Amino acid sequence: MSEEKITSKELLNQLTAKHYDDALAAKAEGKPVVWATSICPNELLDAMDLATVYPENHAAAIGARKEAMKFIEHAEGIGYSADICSYARVNMGYVDLQHAEAQDIPLPDLIFSSTNICNTVLKWYENLAKKLNIPLILFDMPFNHTYEVPDHATNYIRGQIEHAICQLEDFTGRKMDYDKLGEKMAMNNATCEWWKKATDWGKTKPSPLNGFDMFNYMAMIVCMRSSQDGHKLFKLWYEELKQKAEEGKGPWNSAEEQYRIIWDGIACWPHLSTTFKLLKKYGINMVTSTYPSSWYKVYETNDLDGMARSYTGNYANRNLDYGANQMENLIKEFSVDGVVFHSNRSCKLMDFRTYEVQRRITERTGCPSVIFDGDQTDPRVFSQAQYETRIQALLEMMEEKKEAKRKGDME
Ligand code: SF4
Repeated sequence: MSEEKITSKELLNQLTAKHYDDALAAKAEGKPVVWATSICPNELLDAMDLATVYPENHAAAIGARKEAMKFIEHAEGIGYSADICSYARVNMGYVDLQHAEAQDIPLPDLIFSSTNICNTVLKWYENLAKKLNIPLILFDMPFNHTYEVPDHATNYIRGQIEHAICQLEDFTGRKMDYDKLGEKMAMNNATCEWWKKATDWGKTKPSPLNGFDMFNYMAMIVCMRSSQDGHKLFKLWYEELKQKAEEGKGPWNSAEEQYRIIWDGIACWPHLSTTFKLLKKYGINMVTSTYPSSWYKVYETNDLDGMARSYTGNYANRNLDYGANQMENLIKEFSVDGVVFHSNRSCKLMDFRTYEVQRRITERTGCPSVIFDGDQTDPRVFSQAQYETRIQALLEMMEEKKEAKRKGDME
């Protein structure tokens, strides 16, 4: 197949394979491998040419292949509580079992962790470093209790970025090449712009974007933000969506978009097909979620303060007012008819605020919404019957609202 004709989905599959092959090859050649959290300043790692693997991506892939229970049962068997995030349990299980049909990854030589997504990663990654007896570079990114990111947090994190550069220099025995770091920052910015432009196609009616595809592309915005490959992928995806929008095409070939929703929270990877198919059956398209903005890490090239502010400013690290306002904005900007909140047992930080976010957006927008119980990788927590009844309830509410609007327009 000629390169010009490759689709973004084919490129996505190729890059995913290359990402893991490169890490396995690096290990085989005796080069160090890093394990990093999903929203960390990985421009620093890329500038140091360090092969990096993201355990959250890996656990998601294992979940989607319905292989998670083997690792979860092992982790629980050696004492990890079922209340701990299932990504952590899958990963701690993998460290012992070291083989997954979905994908193998090399064990790490360095841990690179940032607490801007949750505090679970603080202990999970610390535990990895202790168990494997390897160094840990940790970014302590305090939760933003104020609406805006305060300057003292920015200063605190900038200091940690500078310190992490010294730690990476000690680890590799090489000096940071600041020209190269600048190039990685510039590429990160450009890739994030294409990611945003692509995911913004969900605003078009009908949306050419099917949000479940977005879940798949998300793996690459985690790990390829500062690479030429990632840039190419998201530009190509944007162009495909643009063409579909210009042709008036919706998210699917076999059905039309009837309702537009926001999906709040991570996918239920082991039940991806079940959750997607039921929505599609009723013509319900997920046009966006709270995730696209989480990887929109744009700041001035060579500006370490901007980098610090950007990495601590993602949705998961912002206060309730910010979260509710962001949801309200998404409802308006993407013209959605409803919201599905995934109450993800793993992700306590997000779940504890779900009910209050739901209450506020109902009060402010009247947008119908439902909450269902699930988990991103532990298949035991999801009930298909409950999911179905919640989606049917949402459908009824959305239908009722549409009918009322139709009647109002006629009067
Ligand atoms: S799913 Fe939630 S708890 Fe688990 S690592 Fe991600 S942010 Fe943290």
